[in-house]
Amino acid sequence: MATKLYINGEWVEATGGTFETHNPATEELIAEVGKASTTDLDAAVEAARGAFENPEWREMLPVQRARLLFRFADTIEAHHEELAQLETADQGQPIGISRMVSTTGAAEHFRYYAGWVTKLEGRTSPISYPNTHHYTRREPLGVCGLITPWNFPLMILAWKLAPALATGNTVIIKPASVTPMTAIRLVEIADEVGFPAGVINLITGPGSIGAAMVEHKGIDKISFTGSTEVGQSIVRASADSLKRVTLELGGKAPSIIARDADVDAAVAGNLMGGLLNSGQVCAAYTRFYVDKKREDEFLTKFAAGIEAMKIGPGHDETTQLGPLVSADHLAHVERLVAAGRAEGAELVTGGERAADTGHFYRPTLFSGVRDEMTLATEEVFGPVLSVLSYDDGDDLAELINRANDTEYGLSSTVWTKDMSVAHRLANGIRAGAVFVNMPPITDMAAPWGGFKASGWGNEMGPYALDAYTEIKGVWMHYGN
Ligand code: NDP
Repeated sequence: MATKLYINGEWVEATGGTFETHNPATEELIAEVGKASTTDLDAAVEAARGAFENPEWREMLPVQRARLLFRFADTIEAHHEELAQLETADQGQPIGISRMVSTTGAAEHFRYYAGWVTKLEGRTSPISYPNTHHYTRREPLGVCGLITPWNFPLMILAWKLAPALATGNTVIIKPASVTPMTAIRLVEIADEVGFPAGVINLITGPGSIGAAMVEHKGIDKISFTGSTEVGQSIVRASADSLKRVTLELGGKAPSIIARDADVDAAVAGNLMGGLLNSGQVCAAYTRFYVDKKREDEFLTKFAAGIEAMKIGPGHDETTQLGPLVSADHLAHVERLVAAGRAEGAELVTGGERAADTGHFYRPTLFSGVRDEMTLATEEVFGPVLSVLSYDDGDDLAELINRANDTEYGLSSTVWTKDMSVAHRLANGIRAGAVFVNMPPITDMAAPWGGFKASGWGNEMGPYALDAYTEIKGVWMHYGN
């Protein structure tokens, strides 16, 4: 029996048919999934609109809303292992990542934003109009469409759902169709927690139902994480309705390894930075600008580290690299590796599939990559790392220009012991995050967002509160 949609507090059958989701390590069927039609979408929008207008949610006391979100966090933790196993089955990520990053991260996001519910203050404004008091209120946007990707399905949904609910919105969730399972389970957990009917709705289905959400007049905001191409189509499609839009898109993070860097630390940090979740990370380090004097040492140690990594199914506790999410995505990675070879980059290790069954790909390292090559410009979103080099004789301005010579600007990293170099590069790089001597991580208290074609707006921290609220000014004239 196919999974159902969750609309107005009820699990209902999808009217658009079904599709399948598979385990990327074994290629076995996990579930038949309900495919939402636009009729289902209309019902979800009506439910979300009704719940938004309903005093049960709209006028819920902040302490009550906070308690619901705290309870949601606790209930996610109570289902921690089951959620982690499901994420690994559907997405492929090693179970340790599912436990520590995905499931724990999701619970902590709800706890963090539960804390904000009772702290959403307005301001008084020192206006110059006589006898008038001006104050601001932070108000929810209304119905928010949350469209999520397949690389961290549970955690990225939590990035959006927690602040959307904390600020009093209602939501329609649409997970990626290759990884819908943990979103479905999370909504079952929300049902157990007891949110009023219609506050949270879930529809599963293809990208076209996501596009229908973007065009739907009854949806006030879209929060999207995924490809830059779809992000651009969302901006175009939302122009007529002037929907609010937040976008977290692709990346092509530079990693700069300076002459004075601790190469062993840089190798360890970049193995994680480049290969976490088999490189299916928007912040993944992919372009390695290594000082020429340290290039041989870095390449030798990096290649040895890459070759020592254990590839296998995510459910095996010793696995470090799981499969890619789908056959289509594996084909995409293979295409870019072939382009790298054809353009003259030197393959140091990897460059081939790692198994006949499952979408496994060997972690791959190229050297001699030049700035204009496909490997240095296109997002691979897989376990493919490219070493470029630079000469310490170059001034930092030139290096900064090369690091910035990309349409993207999400993440970046610098490996140096020289704080002057670290600060100059951190100031010069055009990206939403610069990590100095560390792999890329996220934290619910720190902003996450992209410069340039990597996105619009920020998630996490107090910044996400802006993404789900409008500011209303109230002017009160109190006499002459
Ligand atoms: P997409 O951008 O196609 O998909 C992301 C989400 O948007 C999915 O839920 C998808 O649904 C939905 N969607 C697809 N088309 C539309 C549309 N026209 N309007 C609204 N929603 C839509 O990403 P892919 O899964 O195809 O991955 C492609 C590339 O995107 C990756 O190789 C990577 O470069 C980048 N990516 C970036 C991520 C990030 O974290 N920044 C995460 C994942 C991918 P459905 O799955 O049903 O198609």
